[in-house]
Amino acid sequence: MESTNQGRWDHSVDLLIVGSGAGAMTAALAGCDRGADALLIEKSDRYGGSSAMSGGGLWVPCNHLMAEVGVDDDPEDAWTYLRETTGGEVSEDRLRAYLEKAPEMVRYLVEHTRAEFVSLPEYADYYQRIPGSRPGGRSLEPKNFDAGLLGEEFLKMREQNPQMLIMNRIFMTVFEARTMLTRAPGWIGITMRLMARYWLDVPWRFRSRRDRNLAMGNALVGMLRRSLMDRGIPLWLETVARELIVEDGRVVGALVEKEGRKIRIAASKGVVLAAGGFEGDQAMRERYLPNPTRVEWSCANKHNTGDAIRMGQTVGAALELMSDAWWGPTSVVPGEEHARMLVIEKSLPGSILVNKAGERFVNEAAPYIDVVNEMYAKDSPEKPCVPAYLVFDASFRQKYPCGPLLQASQQPDWALPRSLKQGYLKKADTLEGLAAELGIGAAGLRESVEKLNEYARTGEDLDFHRGETVFDRYYGDEKVAPNPCLAPIEKPPFYGLEAYPGELGTKGGLKTDASARVLKESGEPIPGLYAIGNCSASVMGHSYPGAGSTLGPATTFGYIAARHAMGA
Ligand SMILES: Cc1cc2nc3c(=O)[nH]c(=O)nc-3n(C[C@H](O)[C@H](O)[C@H](O)COP(=O)(O)OP(=O)(O)OC[C@H]3O[C@@H](n4cnc5c(N)ncnc54)[C@H](O)[C@@H]3O)c2cc1C
Repeated sequence: MESTNQGRWDHSVDLLIVGSGAGAMTAALAGCDRGADALLIEKSDRYGGSSAMSGGGLWVPCNHLMAEVGVDDDPEDAWTYLRETTGGEVSEDRLRAYLEKAPEMVRYLVEHTRAEFVSLPEYADYYQRIPGSRPGGRSLEPKNFDAGLLGEEFLKMREQNPQMLIMNRIFMTVFEARTMLTRAPGWIGITMRLMARYWLDVPWRFRSRRDRNLAMGNALVGMLRRSLMDRGIPLWLETVARELIVEDGRVVGALVEKEGRKIRIAASKGVVLAAGGFEGDQAMRERYLPNPTRVEWSCANKHNTGDAIRMGQTVGAALELMSDAWWGPTSVVPGEEHARMLVIEKSLPGSILVNKAGERFVNEAAPYIDVVNEMYAKDSPEKPCVPAYLVFDASFRQKYPCGPLLQASQQPDWALPRSLKQGYLKKADTLEGLAAELGIGAAGLRESVEKLNEYARTGEDLDFHRGETVFDRYYGDEKVAPNPCLAPIEKPPFYGLEAYPGELGTKGGLKTDASARVLKESGEPIPGLYAIGNCSASVMGHSYPGAGSTLGPATTFGYIAARHAMGA
């Protein structure tokens, strides 16, 4: 929309950044370090968005930290892998920009801000059969960060998604989570250490129930928030961007609403939209995503309601990839604000995903995005896959946590809260009884289980090849042989819960170029306007090459956008 400005600004900055996730903060830091007077505005009363709730992983091929864990990489391999996984759907210059600038961005954060990362040597790229993949090292996770360094600002950070916490409160790193959940060697020691660290931190216990030792997304956002504080970069909470202000075809600022008051903010170098996707907007979901779809199935920040996408459209921006998301099967837990993604429990041996007919339809250990793509692709009136059902037995329940349930060895069925016992978790002494409880086909379920039990014995899943790749096995149980992702389902009682086609955020949005500039339908950039993160169409196209494929680009294109705006 062309708004007349008449020279009346309420506030002026060089760079206005809409949103407060990891990409937004990286843009503010990179801009400031190039001399920009930057301002971040956040719609809700908490900063951090989905970035703070997340695993905090960044997928960065050829990052400089890989060498520390003994993994090598090669730019040509990275190029081959990314080009193949994105299947020709993303322009070459954007892919090249990502591969070139992502390692530079990581080095910048490590050398110039409070951010610290480690490379995960065993977190395999998701498509091991594609040339150029690596069995680990490209995914980075933030180190622990002391919340005490944030002072009162800590309590204004969006809380971590509960699925990333022990007992809804204690932080763990990705490495620790995997070790504990898959019962890999050392898991008991790690559990004891984390519990002791939390409960013995007596002064902090008087201050907050939240753990001081931030990990994953809270650590990432904490490090970046502290770095903003070091530079005195302001972050205004409860400030909603409503409209872009355009003069002579250039975006020169935005109309925002702060504490009920409309104010005009001038942005002489540019506006960076970093306001997340449209996962929190039911109408946009129904319009663009495959149906059925529900906001409740999303794990992401509910304040991400597509605002930036709509604002961009109003000034003539083109859209791309709107039907896609960072999919994963999710569980909707009564009383919880966000859904939980079933990442590990679907790969661990002794669980299966079935459709309404009781039949398996997918390699459960495949990348989560693929599992949901199959849910939608195979959903039919005869054999609905939405919802699907995660089925397991008493042996699985005894050993492994699942969604909000701790393993029965620590939380037997009688100790489960009533909300989980009544309605959420279905249970029966026979498979037929469980099928009746879930409302699914008993014959199909029995046949699926019998086949699975045979595959568990031979180690070969003849139907869906579960457990054949290094990626599948990352969340397997290495003590289970011959296939760490396969175990029989045979010991009563049998359990089941519903799994929905949820996501970590949507991935379609404003079309951008290699400099993160927003493009018109004609391909021309809109001067002064940048978009990063999930309000922009992802550089990963329809793919999800490895853990950290959303935050890697959000931070990298934040870095690129700010530097471009500052003329670097
Ligand atoms: C449980 C979970 C685990 C995940 N793990 C990983 C992982 O390990 N690695 C990875 O790469 N990805 C992960 N993701 C996905 C990743 O967190 C998101 O894709 C990413 O954070 C999106 O970044 P963003 O900047 O686009 O949005 P966000 O981080 O959500 O930030 C957007 C912000 O903009 C604000 N906002 C919205 N509208 C306005 C407005 N009009 N004005 C002002 N502010 C506005 C929102 O309130 C929000 O705070 C995970 C997600 C979840 C939920």
